Amino acid sequence: MFPIIEDRPGGDTSYFNNVPQAILAQAELPVFKFELEKSAGKEEDGSYGKEANVSNFPISTGLAGVSMKLQPGIMRELHWHADAAEWAFVVSGRVRTTLVDPAGHSETSDFAPGDVWYFPRGHGHQLEALGNEPCHFILIFDNGYFSEFGTFSITDWMAQVPVATLAKSLRVEEDVLRGLPTGEVYFAKGPIPPEPAAAPMSGPNTTTLTHRFPLMSQQPTEFPGGREWLVDSSRFPISRTMTGLVFELDAGAIRTLHWHPNASEWQYVIGGQYRVTLFGAKGRYREEVLNPGDVGYIPQGYGHSIENIGSETGRILLGLNAGTFQKIDLAEWIAGQPADVLETNLGLPADQIAKLPREDIFITDGEDEQN
Ligand code: MN
Ligand code: MN
Repeated sequence: MFPIIEDRPGGDTSYFNNVPQAILAQAELPVFKFELEKSAGKEEDGSYGKEANVSNFPISTGLAGVSMKLQPGIMRELHWHADAAEWAFVVSGRVRTTLVDPAGHSETSDFAPGDVWYFPRGHGHQLEALGNEPCHFILIFDNGYFSEFGTFSITDWMAQVPVATLAKSLRVEEDVLRGLPTGEVYFAKGPIPPEPAAAPMSGPNTTTLTHRFPLMSQQPTEFPGGREWLVDSSRFPISRTMTGLVFELDAGAIRTLHWHPNASEWQYVIGGQYRVTLFGAKGRYREEVLNPGDVGYIPQGYGHSIENIGSETGRILLGLNAGTFQKIDLAEWIAGQPADVLETNLGLPADQIAKLPREDIFITDGEDEQN
């Protein structure tokens, strides 16, 4: 039922617009908030995975997400995703990943808080906690029908295939495979990984395009009332289908009204409290209040804004399902019009139109800077 789409060069998701979405065709806009960290998910001895996708968050057809915590010595085992690329942001602790790509290259990377990874759809990988502290990261997938609990795990596969076939494929005696797990392990437990990482069994054979991007180590773009860190495929070439952002908004500041022509947006609150507005045409409008651990979703092309309504500066993480970042802000749309167009369209007199923005406003604290 979900359309199969190959990689979308340039992040072109226009094909989606040909697929009617019943949930967006109703008289009222649907709920676009999901309390991810309050959901049950899958837990084992303090390690967990909690997911948001169309099964529990129906509006989110374009993107899914997972909050994952790994205790020291725990590995989210070797697996791949048949139906989505994986983009991640490390919230706390440290993580090591190993990645094997279709060219047979491998990369082992270590991640700290604020670092990002991107694994193309179908590429094999694992994630493990590094050091003595637990790690917590947010995974974002470019397909809302993705499920973290339907991934292709190495132990699940090896348990299903007859041992003779497995032995022949790996060119080993069957005895070598004695004692393999009899089902999917999902969270594997072992010693704390060595530092620095050991070389692959085949020897070093590193990929040419790195899977790691230290997002929060970059200089943010500064605005009155906020800061923005952004990574898309122009800075992180392997991330062909995803763009990630972190907004830091001071109390009262707003990421102004805007829309994304080429992408839907998945939101995760790291800290702070936000009013998110959503405009869906035909007089349809809805607001949600997002608190830490909550997720929001903005369908492609829908008008929206994010305002910090708490009393503290806070950060919100955003993932967009296109590798190139596109947006149009209401302020720049207005600033790009001749005054007579605005006078006619908005029915306002010239002296009021003259006070409207003459440039883009991306993030603002709402203060009039002319005064
Ligand atoms: Mn994965
Ligand atoms: Mn947006």
